[in-house]
Amino acid sequence: MAVHRALRHVWTAALVGSAGACSSPPEPTLDPLVYEVGGFRIEDGTRAASADLIDSIAAVLGAAVADVTTFLPEFPLPDDTITFQLLPGTGIPFVSPSTLVISQWQNGLVLEYLPHQVVHLATGYRQRPFLEEGIAVYASEVLDPSSTILYPHYGQLPHAWVSLFEQQGSTIPLATAFGAAALGYDYLGSTADASAWQVTVEGGSFTRWVFDAYGRDAWLRLYDLDDLTGALGADVADLEGLWLGTARLAYPNPLSCEEALNPEGVLTGREAFWCARARGE
Ligand SMILES: [Zn+2]
Repeated sequence: MAVHRALRHVWTAALVGSAGACSSPPEPTLDPLVYEVGGFRIEDGTRAASADLIDSIAAVLGAAVADVTTFLPEFPLPDDTITFQLLPGTGIPFVSPSTLVISQWQNGLVLEYLPHQVVHLATGYRQRPFLEEGIAVYASEVLDPSSTILYPHYGQLPHAWVSLFEQQGSTIPLATAFGAAALGYDYLGSTADASAWQVTVEGGSFTRWVFDAYGRDAWLRLYDLDDLTGALGADVADLEGLWLGTARLAYPNPLSCEEALNPEGVLTGREAFWCARARGE
């Protein structure tokens, strides 16, 4: 998708020097290059992104904003400019809803993840992680149903992962997943990261089930009330049983964790933690 070149402006980043050091020669600066493209502010912390990449980020971000606005009209995005930060190095993508900033890393840049991140900006991440991650994962699934390259559902969709957890007796109970407070991500992998990953998968699967079984208004009620029984009119054990039964029925033969994450057979450290968690270890 072409982005109008005339919209681009490069601003020389303000030199950050020590106070009163007006006469010092400017130090090499690591401030990002800042672009304004398609109504977005794009900060290139690598200072090396090609014009094509900057345009791609703006185009995909624009499409994500349009798609999420259509999918979740109840959560209009603020009018302020959205910033995309391209960070040097490697890490886990994140968002800052209060400042409308989306951050991704140079290594492992996944623009397909933008709808997920835009959902977080749209809702403002006001509720618990299970609800916020759930709707972001579900929206991404609806907007790109064939995609299995996105965190957290690599290789197979959330219902299929949950079916696997069920087979392996490792499902995190609904009450526990719903109650998860801060999800502690760790790029290199950890037990906490694996639990966060599984809560996120389960949140996406559960959200899909609420939309399918109860409808959109029921999910909106759940989001607002933050109360499973109050919103859905059944106790947690019954909801859990119905949800998990639906996932098992939908995907009776899920891929193994190793097949789903890395068919070539070499798991990263992080993936190894996830598969251990999926095995119930
Ligand atoms: Zn998220």
